[in-house]
Amino acid sequence: MAKADYYQVLGVEKSASPDEIKRAYRRMAIKYHPDKNPGNKEAEAKFKECAEAYEVLSDPEKRKQYDQYGHEGLRGTGMHDFSRMNVEDIFSMFGFEDFFGNVFGGGGGRRGGVRRGGPARGYDLETGVELTLEDVAHGTEKTIEFTRQDRCQECKGSGAAPGTQPVRCPLCGGSGQVAKGGGFFQMVSTCPQCQGTGRVVKNPCPTCRGSGRVPKKRTVTIKVPPGVHEGQGIRVAGEGEPGRDGGPSGDLYVYVRIKPHEFLERDGNDLVAVVPISFTQAALGATIDVPSLEGTRQLKIPPGTQYGSLFRIRGQGLPDVRTGRTGDEIVQVTIETPGNLNARQEELLREFARTENRNVSPKSSSFFERLKRHLGS
Ligand SMILES: [Zn+2]
Ligand SMILES: [Zn+2]
Repeated sequence: MAKADYYQVLGVEKSASPDEIKRAYRRMAIKYHPDKNPGNKEAEAKFKECAEAYEVLSDPEKRKQYDQYGHEGLRGTGMHDFSRMNVEDIFSMFGFEDFFGNVFGGGGGRRGGVRRGGPARGYDLETGVELTLEDVAHGTEKTIEFTRQDRCQECKGSGAAPGTQPVRCPLCGGSGQVAKGGGFFQMVSTCPQCQGTGRVVKNPCPTCRGSGRVPKKRTVTIKVPPGVHEGQGIRVAGEGEPGRDGGPSGDLYVYVRIKPHEFLERDGNDLVAVVPISFTQAALGATIDVPSLEGTRQLKIPPGTQYGSLFRIRGQGLPDVRTGRTGDEIVQVTIETPGNLNARQEELLREFARTENRNVSPKSSSFFERLKRHLGS
C-alpha cells in the first residue's frame, strides 16, 4: 500500500512552520470529523490519515526522518496505529479536546474513549520488518527495535516531581468534566485543564516534563510464519504503550515489507522468473539454468520454444500462509536475437535463411498474409 505524502495530506508546503501545520491539521480534522460525516467511512479514514500526517510533521525528529527518507525513515520510530484507534483517543492525543469540544458542542454526541481518570488501555504502536523471499518461504525470527513511550521511572508515571503529588484539578474539581452555558442548554465537555484526568501536576517531573512518559528503545523478537504477504501485520500482544492507571498495555503491530528479489517476482504463492535464452536454444531445445529460491535449478526447454512461453515447476513457489500448500515457480522465457555476428555465423545464418520456405516459415505466416490483405497489396 503506497502511503500518501504527509504534506499533501495536510495541504501544506514542505517548508510549512509548526504553526501552519497545526492549523492545517485542525482544519482537516474538522472537515473530516466523523461527527460531521456520520457513517462516512471514507471521511473517517481521511481523518485518521490527517492524524498520522500530523503525528509525523508535528514532531521535529519524525519530520526530519520523513523529509530525508520518506515513509521508510519512520520505521521503528514508534508510530501510532491510527486505523485501530477511536476518534476520541486521537483528539485527546493531540490535546485538541477542548477545541473540538467547542466546535462540536461538547459532551453531547461523543463516543467513549475520553479519559476520565479511570484505567485506560495503552495505545497500539506499529512498526515494520523487512523480509527476503527466502524468509517468506521458510518463516523466520526477527529482532525488532522500536521506540515507545514508557512509564517515567523518575516519577513512577505520575508526571509530578519526585516528592510531590499531582493534585485535584481546580477547574473541574477532579471530575474531568466542565459544564458550559446555563439553563436548558448546559453542555458538559472534557475539562481543558486536566484533559479529563481530574488531576493536574503542579511541579512537573524534570525527566518527563510532566507527561509521566519517556521515549525508550525496546527490542522484541517476533516469529514470522511462512507465507506472509507484503503489508500483513503481525500482532505482538502487550508491546504497545503502557496503559494508564493500571490499564493494560496496547499491542505492537509489525507490518511486513518484502525486499525485491534479484530474479524472482511474487505472484500470490507463485514465483515468476523471466529467463532469456538464445534463439538456437529456443529452436533446438536445451537444458537451461533458472534461478530459484534454493539457488539455480535446471529446466528442459523443448525444441521450437516460442518467445514468452511459460514453464511451470510444481511446488517451487511459496507456502500459503494458512494452508501451508506450496505454490509453483513459473519460468517465462524471452529469446535474444543474436547481434555482432562473426563472418562464419553470418554465413551459416544466410545459408539457413536460403533453406527457409517463405510460405511455411515462420509458422505465424498467416499474420503476414493478413497484413498484406490489410494493406491492400
Ligand atoms: Zn517523570
Ligand atoms: Zn480538570
